Amino acid sequence: MKFIADRNLGKLTKWLRVLGYDTVFYRENIDRDFLRTGEKEKRIVLTRRRDMARRNFSGRMVIIYHDRVYDQIQELREKASLDLNARNLFTICLECNQPLQPISKENTADKVPPYVYQTQDTFLTCPECGKIYWPGTHKENILRQLKDRNLFHRP
Ligand SMILES: [Zn+2]
Repeated sequence: MKFIADRNLGKLTKWLRVLGYDTVFYRENIDRDFLRTGEKEKRIVLTRRRDMARRNFSGRMVIIYHDRVYDQIQELREKASLDLNARNLFTICLECNQPLQPISKENTADKVPPYVYQTQDTFLTCPECGKIYWPGTHKENILRQLKDRNLFHRP
C-alpha cells in the first residue's frame, strides 16, 4: 500500500512514513498531475479536498475529514485498512521517503550523539540524505504514542 498526500497533510505524511508506508508528499497545488501521479504509481490518493470526490479518477482516493493526525490515522485504518505493524516502523526516511538501509555501528561514530552510540546497536541510514536513524528509542516512543490513543493493539 502506497500513498500520495496533498499539501494539507504534511503531518499525516510524516506519520505514514514512520509507520513504514511509502508516501509521496505533493507540495504543489492540487491538479490533474496530482491524480495522475497517484494513478500511474498506483498510490492511494489522500486529500482533504472534499470536492475531489467529484473528479473523474479511476484510482483509489481517500478523503480525510479529521483535523488531528491521530484521528486521521484512525480514519485511514477504517477506510484503507491501514495496518500498524511494529516491524515496519522506521523503514523509510521521514524526509526523503526512501527505504532505509542498515549501516554498521562503527560508521555512525562521528554522526550520532555519544550517548546514542553507547546505548544503541542498530542503525539505519537513508541513501539519499545520509540521515542516521536508530529505531530502538524512536520505536518505543512511537508505539507508546499509538497505544496511548488506542491506535495500536498488541496481544
Ligand atoms: Zn533521507
